Amino acid sequence: MIRRLLKSLLSLVSPQQCACCGCRLGIDESAICTICDINMPRRQDHLNPMDNSTARLFWGIAKIERCASWIDYESHTSCAKAIYALKYGNRPDIGFALGQLVADEMQPTGFFDGIDCIVPLPLHRKRQRERGYNQSREFALGLCSVLHIDLCDDAVERLRNTKSQASLVHGERSTNIKDAFGVVRPEALNGKHVLMVDDIVTTGATLSECIKAINKDTDARVSILTIGRAKH
Ligand SMILES: [Zn+2]
Repeated sequence: MIRRLLKSLLSLVSPQQCACCGCRLGIDESAICTICDINMPRRQDHLNPMDNSTARLFWGIAKIERCASWIDYESHTSCAKAIYALKYGNRPDIGFALGQLVADEMQPTGFFDGIDCIVPLPLHRKRQRERGYNQSREFALGLCSVLHIDLCDDAVERLRNTKSQASLVHGERSTNIKDAFGVVRPEALNGKHVLMVDDIVTTGATLSECIKAINKDTDARVSILTIGRAKH
């Protein structure tokens, strides 16, 4: 009650805008307005989590169980604007709000059943310092807050600060990212079913490399969830 009151007072003083369309948010909305939420280009991967076109990016490369991307990601769209703000605009709240939204939507379908912990794709320390936060961790925190599943962000590390994958073509991406991750606390993952989360998946090279490290050093089962899937 008090939180709601504070939120409505705060929205009077400093109205919050939708990260997609810029409209003024209502007090029950966080980061993204209801209309933009409804219009998100959902993929419905989670309804067939073992076999969908996102899961197929990993077949024969990394051992995974379930896999889903929430939306199709295309540049110059209103949802790309929100993802850009999450990554480069000092807006960690967008990641948290999307995490809550996705958790609410996918939970009833059983997508998260049996998941023991959520692992955000780690950023290299230097890049995280520059950005001030890890956008995948913020998304994971939003998921955790709804699902009451533990966050595990200290078991896997990014060992090398690689070039941005976006600047590279397909073949270069897997070379650039090779051996970039290491499991520093295997005991935190052993025997568990881990949900690895990231913002946007394109070729799957980065997530594959991280999951290969987990597959090598632990007996954890790994599933994947990303906010978006970009065409490549
Ligand atoms: Zn909007």
